[in-house]
Amino acid sequence: MSETRHRPDWTPLRLPAADHSFFLAGGPELATTDPTTGETVAVLATSTPADVEELVGRARHAFRTARWRNDGAIRARVLFRYAEALRADVDRLATLLTREQGKTIGEARNEVLSSAEMVEFYAGMARTLYGRSIALGDHAHGVVLREPIGVVGIITPWNWPLVLLVRALAPALAAGNACVVKPASLTPAVTVEALAPLAADPDLPDGILGCAVGSGGVTGDALVGHPDVHMIAFTGETGTGVGVMKRAADDLRKVSLELGGKSPNIVFADARMDKAVEGALNAVFTTTGQICTAGSRLLVEESVREEFVGRLAERTRALRLGDPLDPSTQIGPVVSRGQQREVNDYIELGRKEGDILAAASLPDDLPEGAFVAPTLVGGLARDSRLVQEEIFGPVLTVQGFADEDEAVALAEDTEFGLAAGIWTTDLDRAWRVGRAVSAGTVWINTYHHFYGEAEVGGFKKSGLGRQQGVEGIAEFTETKHLNFDSSPTLW
Ligand code: NAD
Repeated sequence: MSETRHRPDWTPLRLPAADHSFFLAGGPELATTDPTTGETVAVLATSTPADVEELVGRARHAFRTARWRNDGAIRARVLFRYAEALRADVDRLATLLTREQGKTIGEARNEVLSSAEMVEFYAGMARTLYGRSIALGDHAHGVVLREPIGVVGIITPWNWPLVLLVRALAPALAAGNACVVKPASLTPAVTVEALAPLAADPDLPDGILGCAVGSGGVTGDALVGHPDVHMIAFTGETGTGVGVMKRAADDLRKVSLELGGKSPNIVFADARMDKAVEGALNAVFTTTGQICTAGSRLLVEESVREEFVGRLAERTRALRLGDPLDPSTQIGPVVSRGQQREVNDYIELGRKEGDILAAASLPDDLPEGAFVAPTLVGGLARDSRLVQEEIFGPVLTVQGFADEDEAVALAEDTEFGLAAGIWTTDLDRAWRVGRAVSAGTVWINTYHHFYGEAEVGGFKKSGLGRQQGVEGIAEFTETKHLNFDSSPTLW
Protein backbone atom coordinates (compact mmCIF):
# COMPACT_ATOMS: atom_id res chain seq x y z
CA MET A 1 0.00 0.00 0.00
CA SER A 2 1.33 3.41 -0.88
CA GLU A 3 1.58 5.99 1.85
CA THR A 4 0.03 8.55 -0.50
CA ARG A 5 -3.09 6.55 -1.35
CA HIS A 6 -5.27 8.66 1.00
CA ARG A 7 -3.34 11.88 0.48
CA PRO A 8 -4.33 14.12 -2.37
CA ASP A 9 -1.77 16.88 -3.05
CA TRP A 10 -1.83 19.52 -0.39
CA THR A 11 -1.23 23.22 -0.76
CA PRO A 12 -0.22 24.73 2.58
CA LEU A 13 -2.82 27.09 4.02
CA ARG A 14 -1.70 30.67 4.51
CA LEU A 15 -3.27 32.37 7.55
CA PRO A 16 -4.64 34.79 8.55
CA ALA A 17 -6.85 34.93 5.50
CA ALA A 18 -8.16 38.37 4.52
CA ASP A 19 -11.52 37.73 6.22
CA HIS A 20 -10.05 36.57 9.52
CA SER A 21 -10.24 39.86 11.35
CA PHE A 22 -10.49 38.09 14.75
CA PHE A 23 -6.92 36.80 14.29
CA LEU A 24 -4.32 39.58 14.56
CA ALA A 25 -0.80 38.64 13.60
CA GLY A 26 1.96 41.10 12.77
CA GLY A 27 4.85 38.89 13.89
CA PRO A 28 7.18 36.38 12.22
CA GLU A 29 5.78 33.36 10.40
CA LEU A 30 5.29 29.93 11.90
CA ALA A 31 4.89 26.76 9.81
CA THR A 32 3.05 23.67 11.03
CA THR A 33 4.20 20.21 10.00
CA ASP A 34 2.29 17.04 9.19
CA PRO A 35 3.73 14.45 11.61
CA THR A 36 2.96 11.64 9.14
CA THR A 37 4.89 13.00 6.16
CA GLY A 38 6.89 16.04 7.31
CA GLU A 39 4.99 18.21 4.78
CA THR A 40 4.09 21.80 5.64
CA VAL A 41 0.40 21.99 6.57
CA ALA A 42 0.03 25.72 7.10
CA VAL A 43 2.02 28.92 7.33
CA LEU A 44 0.73 31.45 9.83
CA ALA A 45 1.88 34.86 10.89
CA THR A 46 2.27 34.98 14.68
CA SER A 47 0.76 37.50 17.07
CA THR A 48 3.10 39.95 18.78
CA PRO A 49 2.52 41.26 22.32
CA ALA A 50 1.17 44.41 20.62
CA ASP A 51 -1.41 42.26 18.77
CA VAL A 52 -2.41 40.66 22.07
CA GLU A 53 -2.77 44.14 23.56
CA GLU A 54 -5.05 45.15 20.69
CA LEU A 55 -7.18 41.98 20.95
CA VAL A 56 -7.60 42.36 24.70
CA GLY A 57 -8.48 46.06 24.25
CA ARG A 58 -11.15 45.15 21.66
CA ALA A 59 -12.49 42.40 23.92
CA ARG A 60 -12.70 44.72 26.91
CA HIS A 61 -14.46 47.39 24.84
CA ALA A 62 -16.92 44.85 23.39
CA PHE A 63 -17.62 43.41 26.82
CA ARG A 64 -18.39 46.84 28.24
CA THR A 65 -20.46 48.19 25.39
CA ALA A 66 -22.17 45.34 23.56
CA ARG A 67 -25.61 43.90 24.38
CA TRP A 68 -23.93 40.50 24.46
CA ARG A 69 -23.45 40.27 28.22
CA ASN A 70 -27.12 40.90 29.00
CA ASP A 71 -28.81 38.97 26.22
CA GLY A 72 -28.75 35.20 26.60
CA ALA A 73 -31.08 34.73 23.63
CA ILE A 74 -28.54 36.25 21.21
CA ARG A 75 -25.74 34.18 22.73
CA ALA A 76 -27.80 31.01 22.39
CA ARG A 77 -28.60 31.74 18.74
CA VAL A 78 -24.96 32.45 17.90
CA LEU A 79 -23.78 29.26 19.60
CA PHE A 80 -26.48 27.05 18.05
CA ARG A 81 -25.51 28.36 14.61
CA TYR A 82 -21.85 27.74 15.42
CA ALA A 83 -22.55 24.10 16.32
CA GLU A 84 -24.29 23.63 12.97
CA ALA A 85 -21.41 25.30 11.13
CA LEU A 86 -18.92 22.88 12.73
CA ARG A 87 -21.06 19.92 11.73
CA ALA A 88 -21.46 21.15 8.18
CA ASP A 89 -17.68 21.51 7.83
CA VAL A 90 -16.73 18.20 9.48
CA ASP A 91 -14.93 16.70 6.48
CA ARG A 92 -12.63 19.66 5.85
CA LEU A 93 -11.91 20.34 9.54
CA ALA A 94 -11.28 16.66 10.32
CA THR A 95 -8.83 16.35 7.42
CA LEU A 96 -6.98 19.47 8.54
CA LEU A 97 -6.93 18.18 12.12
CA THR A 98 -5.48 14.84 11.02
CA ARG A 99 -2.85 16.55 8.89
CA GLU A 100 -1.81 19.00 11.59
CA GLN A 101 -2.07 16.74 14.66
CA GLY A 102 -1.69 13.18 13.32
CA LYS A 103 -4.78 11.60 14.91
CA THR A 104 -6.76 9.09 12.86
CA ILE A 105 -9.40 10.50 10.56
CA GLY A 106 -12.14 8.66 12.48
CA GLU A 107 -11.06 10.24 15.74
CA ALA A 108 -10.72 13.64 14.04
CA ARG A 109 -14.31 13.45 12.78
CA ASN A 110 -15.42 12.43 16.25
CA GLU A 111 -13.55 15.41 17.70
CA VAL A 112 -15.27 17.89 15.35
CA LEU A 113 -18.72 16.38 15.99
CA SER A 114 -18.15 16.21 19.77
CA SER A 115 -17.12 19.86 19.65
CA ALA A 116 -20.41 20.70 17.93
CA GLU A 117 -22.29 18.83 20.67
CA MET A 118 -20.40 20.67 23.41
CA VAL A 119 -21.21 24.03 21.81
CA GLU A 120 -24.86 23.01 21.54
CA PHE A 121 -25.00 22.02 25.20
CA TYR A 122 -23.81 25.47 26.27
CA ALA A 123 -25.97 27.19 23.66
CA GLY A 124 -28.89 25.73 25.60
CA MET A 125 -27.47 26.91 28.90
CA ALA A 126 -26.96 30.49 27.69
CA ARG A 127 -30.62 31.21 28.58
CA THR A 128 -30.60 29.45 31.93
CA LEU A 129 -28.16 31.43 34.06
CA TYR A 130 -30.77 31.87 36.73
CA GLY A 131 -30.09 33.69 39.96
CA ARG A 132 -31.99 33.52 43.25
CA SER A 133 -34.16 35.91 45.13
CA ILE A 134 -34.21 35.87 48.93
CA ALA A 135 -36.58 37.50 51.40
CA LEU A 136 -34.34 38.97 54.13
CA GLY A 137 -36.73 40.11 56.81
CA ASP A 138 -39.59 42.64 56.63
CA HIS A 139 -37.85 45.29 54.51
CA ALA A 140 -34.86 43.68 52.91
CA HIS A 141 -34.64 41.61 49.81
CA GLY A 142 -31.69 40.04 48.07
CA VAL A 143 -31.22 39.13 44.41
CA VAL A 144 -28.25 36.89 43.71
CA LEU A 145 -27.09 37.11 40.10
CA ARG A 146 -24.55 35.26 38.01
CA GLU A 147 -22.62 37.72 35.90
CA PRO A 148 -19.90 37.19 33.30
CA ILE A 149 -16.36 37.83 34.51
CA GLY A 150 -15.17 40.00 31.62
CA VAL A 151 -12.29 39.11 29.30
CA VAL A 152 -11.27 35.45 29.42
CA GLY A 153 -7.97 34.22 27.98
CA ILE A 154 -8.22 30.62 26.75
CA ILE A 155 -4.97 28.68 26.27
CA THR A 156 -5.18 25.24 24.67
CA PRO A 157 -2.89 22.24 24.02
CA TRP A 158 -2.41 20.33 20.76
CA ASN A 159 -3.78 16.87 21.56
CA TRP A 160 -7.53 17.57 21.27
CA PRO A 161 -7.33 21.15 19.99
CA LEU A 162 -11.02 21.59 19.13
CA VAL A 163 -12.86 19.87 21.98
CA LEU A 164 -10.53 21.40 24.56
CA LEU A 165 -11.06 24.79 22.97
CA VAL A 166 -14.85 24.72 22.87
CA ARG A 167 -15.33 23.21 26.30
CA ALA A 168 -13.90 26.49 27.65
CA LEU A 169 -14.97 28.87 24.88
CA ALA A 170 -18.62 27.79 24.63
CA PRO A 171 -19.44 28.17 28.36
CA ALA A 172 -17.40 31.38 28.59
CA LEU A 173 -19.36 32.90 25.70
CA ALA A 174 -22.66 31.41 26.88
CA ALA A 175 -22.11 33.21 30.19
CA GLY A 176 -21.60 36.51 28.35
CA ASN A 177 -17.82 36.93 28.47
CA ALA A 178 -15.45 38.11 25.74
CA CYS A 179 -12.67 35.64 24.86
CA VAL A 180 -9.15 35.75 23.45
CA VAL A 181 -7.89 32.31 22.40
CA LYS A 182 -4.23 31.23 22.23
CA PRO A 183 -3.94 27.80 20.57
CA ALA A 184 -0.95 25.48 20.84
CA SER A 185 1.81 26.24 18.35
CA LEU A 186 1.54 22.75 16.83
CA THR A 187 -2.16 23.04 15.95
CA PRO A 188 -3.01 26.71 15.25
CA ALA A 189 -4.36 26.34 11.69
CA VAL A 190 -7.15 23.93 12.58
CA THR A 191 -8.04 26.15 15.55
CA VAL A 192 -8.23 29.33 13.48
CA GLU A 193 -10.24 27.57 10.78
CA ALA A 194 -12.63 26.15 13.37
CA LEU A 195 -13.14 29.59 14.94
CA ALA A 196 -13.77 31.38 11.62
CA PRO A 197 -17.52 30.62 11.27
CA LEU A 198 -18.15 31.76 14.84
CA ALA A 199 -16.26 34.99 14.27
CA ALA A 200 -18.24 35.57 11.07
CA ASP A 201 -21.65 35.31 12.77
CA PRO A 202 -23.44 38.65 12.22
CA ASP A 203 -24.80 38.62 15.79
CA LEU A 204 -21.40 38.18 17.43
CA PRO A 205 -20.26 41.69 18.34
CA ASP A 206 -16.83 42.71 17.03
CA GLY A 207 -14.16 42.06 19.62
CA ILE A 208 -16.06 39.42 21.62
CA LEU A 209 -13.85 36.76 20.02
CA GLY A 210 -10.15 37.17 19.31
CA CYS A 211 -7.33 34.78 18.51
CA ALA A 212 -3.59 35.17 19.00
CA VAL A 213 -1.17 32.61 17.57
CA GLY A 214 2.40 32.10 18.74
CA SER A 215 4.63 30.51 21.32
CA GLY A 216 3.62 30.06 24.94
CA GLY A 217 6.62 32.06 26.14
CA VAL A 218 5.79 35.18 24.06
CA THR A 219 2.14 35.23 22.92
CA GLY A 220 0.79 33.09 25.76
CA ASP A 221 2.73 35.08 28.33
CA ALA A 222 1.45 38.39 26.92
CA LEU A 223 -2.12 37.12 27.38
CA VAL A 224 -1.59 35.69 30.87
CA GLY A 225 0.26 38.84 32.00
CA HIS A 226 -2.35 41.29 30.72
CA PRO A 227 -4.10 43.06 33.61
CA ASP A 228 -7.34 43.40 31.63
CA VAL A 229 -7.66 39.63 31.17
CA HIS A 230 -9.85 38.79 34.14
CA MET A 231 -9.57 35.02 33.93
CA ILE A 232 -7.30 32.46 32.28
CA ALA A 233 -8.72 29.07 31.32
CA PHE A 234 -5.62 26.97 30.76
CA THR A 235 -5.32 23.38 29.51
CA GLY A 236 -1.85 21.88 29.28
CA GLU A 237 1.02 20.43 31.29
CA THR A 238 1.07 20.71 35.05
CA GLY A 239 4.39 22.61 35.07
CA THR A 240 3.11 25.18 32.57
CA GLY A 241 -0.14 25.53 34.52
CA VAL A 242 1.71 26.26 37.75
CA GLY A 243 3.66 29.00 35.93
CA VAL A 244 0.42 30.47 34.54
CA MET A 245 -1.12 30.51 38.02
CA LYS A 246 1.91 32.28 39.52
CA ARG A 247 1.83 34.90 36.77
CA ALA A 248 -1.90 35.51 37.22
CA ALA A 249 -1.42 35.73 40.99
CA ASP A 250 0.39 39.09 40.65
CA ASP A 251 -2.93 40.78 39.89
CA LEU A 252 -5.04 38.17 41.67
CA ARG A 253 -6.75 37.07 38.49
CA LYS A 254 -8.82 33.90 38.33
CA VAL A 255 -7.43 30.74 36.74
CA SER A 256 -8.95 27.41 35.84
CA LEU A 257 -6.38 24.68 35.19
CA GLU A 258 -6.90 21.40 33.33
CA LEU A 259 -3.54 19.66 33.65
CA GLY A 260 -1.69 16.37 33.27
CA GLY A 261 -2.56 12.87 34.44
CA LYS A 262 -1.26 9.37 35.09
CA SER A 263 -4.51 7.55 35.44
CA PRO A 264 -4.87 4.05 36.90
CA ASN A 265 -7.01 1.51 35.09
CA ILE A 266 -7.89 -1.21 37.63
CA VAL A 267 -8.96 -4.68 36.49
CA PHE A 268 -10.42 -7.05 39.10
CA ALA A 269 -10.56 -10.81 38.57
CA ASP A 270 -14.37 -10.76 38.32
CA ALA A 271 -14.41 -8.27 35.40
CA ARG A 272 -15.95 -9.13 32.03
CA MET A 273 -12.64 -9.94 30.43
CA ASP A 274 -13.40 -9.29 26.75
CA LYS A 275 -14.75 -5.86 27.51
CA ALA A 276 -11.92 -5.05 29.94
CA VAL A 277 -9.22 -6.00 27.40
CA GLU A 278 -10.78 -3.71 24.78
CA GLY A 279 -11.28 -1.06 27.44
CA ALA A 280 -7.65 -1.17 28.55
CA LEU A 281 -6.49 -0.86 24.95
CA ASN A 282 -8.76 2.10 24.25
CA ALA A 283 -7.90 3.72 27.61
CA VAL A 284 -4.20 4.02 26.83
CA PHE A 285 -3.84 4.07 23.03
CA THR A 286 -6.53 6.62 22.09
CA THR A 287 -4.84 9.53 20.27
CA THR A 288 -1.65 7.41 20.24
CA GLY A 289 -1.52 7.79 24.02
CA GLN A 290 -1.60 11.59 23.84
CA ILE A 291 -4.72 12.15 25.91
CA CYS A 292 -4.67 13.68 29.37
CA THR A 293 -7.01 11.01 30.78
CA ALA A 294 -5.02 8.10 29.29
CA GLY A 295 -5.36 4.97 31.43
CA SER A 296 -1.59 4.65 31.30
CA ARG A 297 -1.14 2.53 34.46
CA LEU A 298 -2.78 -0.87 34.23
CA LEU A 299 -3.36 -2.43 37.66
CA VAL A 300 -4.52 -6.02 37.36
CA GLU A 301 -5.45 -8.58 40.03
CA GLU A 302 -2.71 -11.21 40.34
CA SER A 303 -5.06 -14.18 39.88
CA VAL A 304 -5.92 -13.09 36.30
CA ARG A 305 -2.79 -11.14 35.50
CA GLU A 306 -1.13 -13.64 33.21
CA GLU A 307 -4.26 -14.32 31.20
CA PHE A 308 -5.27 -10.66 30.97
CA VAL A 309 -1.84 -9.35 30.02
CA GLY A 310 -1.45 -12.17 27.48
CA ARG A 311 -4.67 -11.15 25.74
CA LEU A 312 -3.80 -7.48 25.89
CA ALA A 313 -0.33 -8.20 24.47
CA GLU A 314 -1.89 -10.08 21.56
CA ARG A 315 -4.22 -7.17 20.79
CA THR A 316 -1.37 -4.66 21.12
CA ARG A 317 0.86 -6.55 18.66
CA ALA A 318 -2.02 -6.61 16.16
CA LEU A 319 -2.69 -2.85 16.18
CA ARG A 320 -2.52 -1.34 12.68
CA LEU A 321 -0.17 1.63 12.51
CA GLY A 322 -0.26 3.73 9.39
CA ASP A 323 -1.36 6.85 7.60
CA PRO A 324 -4.04 8.41 9.82
CA LEU A 325 -5.93 9.58 6.73
CA ASP A 326 -6.45 5.90 5.85
CA PRO A 327 -9.74 4.93 7.54
CA SER A 328 -8.42 1.45 8.36
CA THR A 329 -5.51 2.81 10.43
CA GLN A 330 -5.88 2.36 14.19
CA ILE A 331 -2.78 4.19 15.41
CA GLY A 332 -1.35 7.33 13.81
CA PRO A 333 1.94 9.05 14.57
CA VAL A 334 2.60 11.12 17.67
CA VAL A 335 2.38 14.86 17.14
CA SER A 336 6.02 15.65 16.29
CA ARG A 337 9.54 14.32 15.97
CA GLY A 338 10.33 15.83 19.37
CA GLN A 339 7.46 13.95 20.98
CA GLN A 340 8.60 10.76 19.22
CA ARG A 341 12.09 11.11 20.69
CA GLU A 342 10.74 11.74 24.21
CA VAL A 343 8.41 8.73 24.12
CA ASN A 344 11.08 6.45 22.65
CA ASP A 345 13.44 7.53 25.46
CA TYR A 346 10.83 6.33 27.99
CA ILE A 347 10.56 3.00 26.14
CA GLU A 348 14.37 2.61 26.26
CA LEU A 349 14.29 3.31 30.00
CA GLY A 350 11.53 0.70 30.36
CA ARG A 351 13.72 -1.83 28.56
CA LYS A 352 16.53 -1.13 31.06
CA GLU A 353 14.46 -0.98 34.24
CA GLY A 354 11.75 -3.56 33.45
CA ASP A 355 10.44 -5.95 30.79
CA ILE A 356 8.91 -5.10 27.44
CA LEU A 357 5.83 -7.34 27.51
CA ALA A 358 4.66 -6.53 23.99
CA ALA A 359 5.08 -3.97 21.23
CA ALA A 360 3.11 -3.41 18.04
CA SER A 361 5.08 -4.10 14.90
CA LEU A 362 5.83 -1.24 12.52
CA PRO A 363 4.73 -2.25 9.00
CA ASP A 364 7.28 -2.03 6.16
CA ASP A 365 5.22 0.52 4.26
CA LEU A 366 4.82 2.88 7.22
CA PRO A 367 5.33 6.51 6.18
CA GLU A 368 8.57 8.11 7.39
CA GLY A 369 6.70 9.94 10.13
CA ALA A 370 6.78 10.35 13.91
CA PHE A 371 5.53 6.83 14.65
CA VAL A 372 6.02 5.06 17.97
CA ALA A 373 5.13 1.40 18.52
CA PRO A 374 2.45 0.96 21.22
CA THR A 375 4.28 -0.83 24.04
CA LEU A 376 3.44 -2.65 27.30
CA VAL A 377 6.07 -2.54 30.06
CA GLY A 378 6.07 -4.65 33.24
CA GLY A 379 8.49 -5.43 36.05
CA LEU A 380 8.92 -1.78 37.08
CA ALA A 381 9.48 -0.41 40.58
CA ARG A 382 6.68 1.78 42.00
CA ASP A 383 8.93 4.82 41.86
CA SER A 384 10.09 4.21 38.28
CA ARG A 385 9.78 7.32 36.10
CA LEU A 386 7.63 5.25 33.72
CA VAL A 387 5.11 4.59 36.47
CA GLN A 388 5.16 8.11 37.91
CA GLU A 389 5.57 10.52 34.99
CA GLU A 390 3.09 11.42 32.28
CA ILE A 391 4.62 9.96 29.10
CA PHE A 392 1.99 11.29 26.67
CA GLY A 393 2.60 8.50 24.18
CA PRO A 394 1.47 4.89 23.56
CA VAL A 395 3.13 3.29 26.58
CA LEU A 396 1.26 1.24 29.19
CA THR A 397 2.86 0.15 32.46
CA VAL A 398 1.52 -3.02 34.08
CA GLN A 399 1.43 -3.68 37.84
CA GLY A 400 -0.20 -6.54 39.75
CA PHE A 401 -2.18 -6.36 43.03
CA ALA A 402 -3.26 -8.98 45.53
CA ASP A 403 -6.46 -7.43 46.89
CA GLU A 404 -8.66 -4.35 46.87
CA ASP A 405 -6.59 -2.48 49.47
CA GLU A 406 -3.45 -2.89 47.43
CA ALA A 407 -5.28 -1.86 44.25
CA VAL A 408 -6.37 1.41 45.90
CA ALA A 409 -2.89 2.00 47.37
CA LEU A 410 -1.29 1.61 43.93
CA ALA A 411 -3.95 3.72 42.26
CA GLU A 412 -3.32 6.51 44.77
CA ASP A 413 0.46 6.32 44.41
CA THR A 414 0.66 9.31 42.06
CA GLU A 415 0.78 13.08 42.27
CA PHE A 416 -1.98 13.30 39.64
CA GLY A 417 -5.75 12.81 40.00
CA LEU A 418 -7.45 13.27 36.65
CA ALA A 419 -9.24 9.99 35.90
CA ALA A 420 -9.43 6.29 36.75
CA GLY A 421 -11.03 3.13 35.38
CA ILE A 422 -12.50 0.23 37.40
CA TRP A 423 -13.44 -3.09 35.79
CA THR A 424 -15.55 -5.36 38.01
CA THR A 425 -18.99 -6.98 38.12
CA ASP A 426 -19.22 -6.39 41.90
CA LEU A 427 -21.23 -3.19 42.30
CA ASP A 428 -20.33 -2.78 45.99
CA ARG A 429 -16.66 -2.92 45.15
CA ALA A 430 -17.07 -0.48 42.26
CA TRP A 431 -18.68 1.97 44.69
CA ARG A 432 -15.99 1.51 47.39
CA VAL A 433 -13.05 1.81 45.02
CA GLY A 434 -14.69 4.61 43.04
CA ARG A 435 -15.06 6.62 46.26
CA ALA A 436 -11.52 5.82 47.45
CA VAL A 437 -9.69 6.94 44.30
CA SER A 438 -8.78 10.63 43.98
CA ALA A 439 -9.84 11.47 40.45
CA GLY A 440 -12.17 13.94 38.74
CA THR A 441 -13.69 11.19 36.57
CA VAL A 442 -13.97 7.50 37.50
CA TRP A 443 -15.23 5.20 34.75
CA ILE A 444 -16.76 1.89 35.80
CA ASN A 445 -16.70 -0.82 33.14
CA THR A 446 -15.97 1.76 30.47
CA TYR A 447 -13.36 4.40 29.68
CA HIS A 448 -13.08 7.72 27.81
CA HIS A 449 -16.77 8.43 27.59
CA PHE A 450 -17.28 12.17 27.96
CA TYR A 451 -20.56 14.06 28.13
CA GLY A 452 -21.23 17.78 27.93
CA GLU A 453 -23.58 17.26 30.89
CA ALA A 454 -20.92 15.86 33.24
CA GLU A 455 -18.04 17.75 34.85
CA VAL A 456 -14.37 16.89 34.26
CA GLY A 457 -11.28 18.13 36.06
CA GLY A 458 -8.48 17.20 38.34
CA PHE A 459 -7.73 16.33 41.94
CA LYS A 460 -4.17 16.93 43.20
CA LYS A 461 -1.73 18.13 40.51
CA SER A 462 -4.20 17.49 37.69
CA GLY A 463 -5.90 20.83 38.01
CA LEU A 464 -8.12 23.41 39.62
CA GLY A 465 -11.79 23.97 38.86
CA ARG A 466 -14.12 22.00 36.62
CA GLN A 467 -15.13 22.16 32.98
CA GLN A 468 -18.26 20.82 31.28
CA GLY A 469 -21.62 20.36 32.98
CA VAL A 470 -23.28 23.05 35.06
CA GLU A 471 -20.10 23.76 37.01
CA GLY A 472 -18.35 24.36 33.69
CA ILE A 473 -20.42 27.49 33.03
CA ALA A 474 -20.41 28.62 36.67
CA GLU A 475 -16.58 28.80 36.42
CA PHE A 476 -16.96 31.66 33.96
CA THR A 477 -19.23 33.75 36.17
CA GLU A 478 -19.02 35.97 39.22
CA THR A 479 -21.77 35.86 41.82
CA LYS A 480 -23.28 39.20 42.75
CA HIS A 481 -25.72 39.97 45.54
CA LEU A 482 -27.96 43.00 44.97
CA ASN A 483 -29.43 43.95 48.33
CA PHE A 484 -32.59 46.07 48.45
CA ASP A 485 -33.97 47.80 51.52
CA SER A 486 -37.40 49.48 51.68
CA SER A 487 -37.44 50.56 55.33
CA PRO A 488 -37.69 54.35 55.96
CA THR A 489 -34.69 54.37 58.31
CA LEU A 490 -31.23 52.84 58.15
CA TRP A 491 -31.39 50.72 61.31
P1 NAD B 1 1.87 22.75 27.27
O1 NAD B 1 1.72 23.04 28.71
O2 NAD B 1 3.25 22.65 26.72
O3 NAD B 1 1.15 23.88 26.40
C1 NAD B 1 -0.22 24.17 26.55
C2 NAD B 1 -0.48 25.58 26.04
O4 NAD B 1 0.18 26.51 26.91
C3 NAD B 1 0.07 25.85 24.64
O5 NAD B 1 -0.85 26.69 23.95
C4 NAD B 1 1.35 26.59 24.93
O6 NAD B 1 1.79 27.40 23.87
C5 NAD B 1 0.95 27.41 26.15
N1 NAD B 1 2.05 27.89 26.97
C6 NAD B 1 3.27 27.33 27.17
N2 NAD B 1 4.02 28.10 28.01
C7 NAD B 1 3.25 29.16 28.35
C8 NAD B 1 3.45 30.30 29.18
N3 NAD B 1 4.59 30.51 29.82
N4 NAD B 1 2.44 31.18 29.31
C9 NAD B 1 1.27 30.98 28.67
N5 NAD B 1 1.01 29.94 27.86
C10 NAD B 1 1.99 29.02 27.71
O7 NAD B 1 1.03 21.43 26.97
P2 NAD B 1 0.94 20.62 25.60
O8 NAD B 1 2.24 19.92 25.38
O9 NAD B 1 0.40 21.51 24.52
O10 NAD B 1 -0.22 19.57 25.94
C11 NAD B 1 -0.01 18.38 26.59
C12 NAD B 1 -0.33 18.50 28.08
O11 NAD B 1 -1.65 18.97 28.25
C13 NAD B 1 -0.26 17.17 28.82
O12 NAD B 1 0.34 17.37 30.07
C14 NAD B 1 -1.73 16.82 29.01
O13 NAD B 1 -2.02 15.96 30.08
C15 NAD B 1 -2.32 18.17 29.22
N6 NAD B 1 -3.75 18.11 28.93
C16 NAD B 1 -4.64 18.20 29.96
C17 NAD B 1 -6.01 18.09 29.72
C18 NAD B 1 -7.03 18.14 30.82
O14 NAD B 1 -8.21 18.28 30.53
N7 NAD B 1 -6.66 18.00 32.08
C19 NAD B 1 -6.46 17.92 28.41
C20 NAD B 1 -5.51 17.82 27.39
C21 NAD B 1 -4.17 17.94 27.65
